[in-house]
Amino acid sequence: MKGVFSDLEQYGHEQVSYFHDKASGLKAIIGVHSTVLGPALGGCRMWKYADEQAAIRDVLRLSRGMTYKAAVAGLNLGGGKAVIMADSHTQKTPEMLKAFGRAVEAMGGRYITAEDVGMSVADIDLISTQTKYAVGGSNEGGSGDPSVMTAFGVFQGMKAALKHAGLGENLDGMRVVIQGAGNVGYHLASYLNAAGAKLMVADIYPAQMERLVSEFQAEIIAPDKVYSTECEVFAPCALGAILNSQTIPQLKCKVVAGSANNQLDSESDGYDLFSRGIVYAPDYAINSGGVINVAAELDGYNHANVVAKVTRVYNTIADILDRSKAQAVPPHKAADEIAELRLAQAKKSNPEVEKQLCQA
Ligand code: NAD
Repeated sequence: MKGVFSDLEQYGHEQVSYFHDKASGLKAIIGVHSTVLGPALGGCRMWKYADEQAAIRDVLRLSRGMTYKAAVAGLNLGGGKAVIMADSHTQKTPEMLKAFGRAVEAMGGRYITAEDVGMSVADIDLISTQTKYAVGGSNEGGSGDPSVMTAFGVFQGMKAALKHAGLGENLDGMRVVIQGAGNVGYHLASYLNAAGAKLMVADIYPAQMERLVSEFQAEIIAPDKVYSTECEVFAPCALGAILNSQTIPQLKCKVVAGSANNQLDSESDGYDLFSRGIVYAPDYAINSGGVINVAAELDGYNHANVVAKVTRVYNTIADILDRSKAQAVPPHKAADEIAELRLAQAKKSNPEVEKQLCQA
């Protein structure tokens, strides 16, 4: 039988904590992958997982991704993430959110929470009544909804990826398929529409797409047609693992550039995209706008500084793609190398880090 530590060893986690509150029905898992660069910051996802294993896998992969995201974005933060096993449409209650806030507080600052799928600014406000370790709220000094800056970063990174693919960075007339018309999908559609792109959108909740149709004249496509629809850019803005052995052969796009975390189901999927000549903008590098935005709260939020930093997602993606080309490795490997180099340098310049972890 698989022991509880095998998952932690597989991904290299420092800590995974389980929280249960009988009264509210809260079942939450907080994953702290690394605190080498600083406290582990990452959003909380509320999702109706098929089973506990699916939730554990998600929190492990998401929190590891946050370590790499912060490292590549140049932030002095570690990687963490939380999941709450519940349907955000039908099971979310104030009591459950408050219980989660108490769980975050119990982590003592090793983990700082924020929004992710199924969570809103109002939810963070409620969580913040129970903990000081929450960002992305509407309180004084709060940075609010991170999805606007996430979308802005994706828009910048998409331009760099298109240029790398030889299509130029002018989005006028480009066909972009957006998978997921949620917070990021909506704001990304807004930037793309202003740039003249032709939008196609799919969501499993039809009501989510109404705004994109009425405001940006987006064309609705069926959720299972997103992969096979011909377009210049496929923008995954829903859940992860959507680039896999079933979907990659169907792709008719030149570029994959979207906000979803953990888009590659496995390592080999990144190689498959590369060998098919599809330019992939690594997820944790292109979607770093949100964490850059919430992290700015910790130093006193300044919107102009955040916009300047997020604009540089263009350069980050361009650098990764140049490195990928020069070394003939897929972009996800090139991005990992950049992140791992920064983490190794941090450990080298501060050997105490390793000691502190052992004592934690
Ligand atoms: P959201 O919950 O607002 O939107 C997600 C949307 O995807 C929902 O409308 C949902 O119905 C839809 N969806 C789910 N499964 C789908 C499927 N199979 N096909 C089509 N649509 C589907 O979440 P969000 O905040 O917009 O985040 C989207 C993605 O971007 C997530 O993977 C998230 O982790 C990632 N991300 C978000 C931020 C942020 O600032 N919100 C930052 C970084 C990364």
